[in-house]
Amino acid sequence: MQSRAIAILGATGSIGTTTLNVVRAHPSRLRVAGLAAHSRWRELVDPAKEFGVSVIALADPAAAAEARASGAFPAGTRILEGTAGLTEVACLPEISMVVSAVVGTAGLAPTLAALKAKKDVALASKELLVLAGKFVTEAARASGARLLPVDSEHNAIHQLLREKPKGDIARLVLTASGGAFRDTPIADLKHVTLAQALKHPNWSMGPKVTIDSATMANKGLEVIEARWLFDVPADRIDVVVHPQSIIHSLVTLTDGSLQALLSPPSMAYPIQDCLLFPERLPCPAPRLDLAQALTLGMTPPDPARYPCLGLARAAATTGGTAPAIFNAANEVAVAEFVAGKLPFTAIAELVGRTLAAVSAREPGHLDEVLATDAETRVVASRLALGLAR
Ligand code: NDP
Ligand code: MG
Repeated sequence: MQSRAIAILGATGSIGTTTLNVVRAHPSRLRVAGLAAHSRWRELVDPAKEFGVSVIALADPAAAAEARASGAFPAGTRILEGTAGLTEVACLPEISMVVSAVVGTAGLAPTLAALKAKKDVALASKELLVLAGKFVTEAARASGARLLPVDSEHNAIHQLLREKPKGDIARLVLTASGGAFRDTPIADLKHVTLAQALKHPNWSMGPKVTIDSATMANKGLEVIEARWLFDVPADRIDVVVHPQSIIHSLVTLTDGSLQALLSPPSMAYPIQDCLLFPERLPCPAPRLDLAQALTLGMTPPDPARYPCLGLARAAATTGGTAPAIFNAANEVAVAEFVAGKLPFTAIAELVGRTLAAVSAREPGHLDEVLATDAETRVVASRLALGLAR
């Protein structure tokens, strides 16, 4: 493989920094040409110097101004700002791939622009497919750019499906760790704290996705993500709780046999799979040690413990803008929980009430989805007042 130049949106985050570790391990294959984040510009100074990156974008204009004035970046570094800045980084002429790893939906416009400019996208931000799966997949199809899933479950399925005829696939099975409260008595969930919710048993991830793992809203988003990535209806996508996070997903073949992909719970594996696709090289993360005893468990998810999963499935079945409503309501609910305004169990309650209050429709244009997203946030914030502690 020739050297591949990439840009990273969300470069300061958990996925962004693991991406930099993977690049570090393969200097002859990978090069970083652009980095983008929201506001934490100081975290970009060292990577910019280490990887010789001369274009930076910060979504927050005040942070961009501060970064420019600081003189901390090497002379000649261009420091762009806002969505336009992120979009410019995502479309740099010298890159062929963008890692889309901004939390939430702020990466939508830059990612769509990258796909239209025929840049392959390594997609971590599942929210983009949940919000606008139809438009994101259409943009990739139209330009011929590849959409490669970073999310560990979807990356596993992508690996399992390579070169398999579609007719061989009966069902997809996403594994879920069960999150921080897998073994907490359901009656106690009302009283769990933010610090407890942020302690994921297996994965080290950003705060939003860690809380979404505890509610299983994350797996709900992932069912919708899989529906778009693999063109399989949600009712053929199963979820199973697998506490060890070593089996990253499975496919059920038409004859009833199953195939699985196993690796240790490190995002370096799926990220590297995308960055080097289709080449395979040793990954800079620990290996599974089969000289040690290994127990792999699987149980069906309990709907009473994880009501968000059922709500996401209902939104997937409704289709149209319903998944966007689910996503926006969940983002508001998680933010309220993080701010200490809602108890943990109110996250699902708020999502359910918001889904009932905002009507879904089939969007003809992306603007309709964005309008629904904005409307949902207003409605959810109002409904949250009725559920406040
Ligand atoms: P983090 O919270 O660790 O990082 C978020 C990144 O997004 C930061 O770089 C942050 O910049 C940037 N950001 C936040 N808001 C904006 C904005 N408005 N405009 C531009 N950039 C912004 O998140 P993760 O790395 O955990 O997750 C990123 C995405 O990947 C999410 O969609 C998540 O669901 C998905 N994902 C993550 C996994 C993981 O293991 N972490 C696994 C699978 C999927 P700043 O630092 O300046 O605020
Ligand atoms: Mg995942």
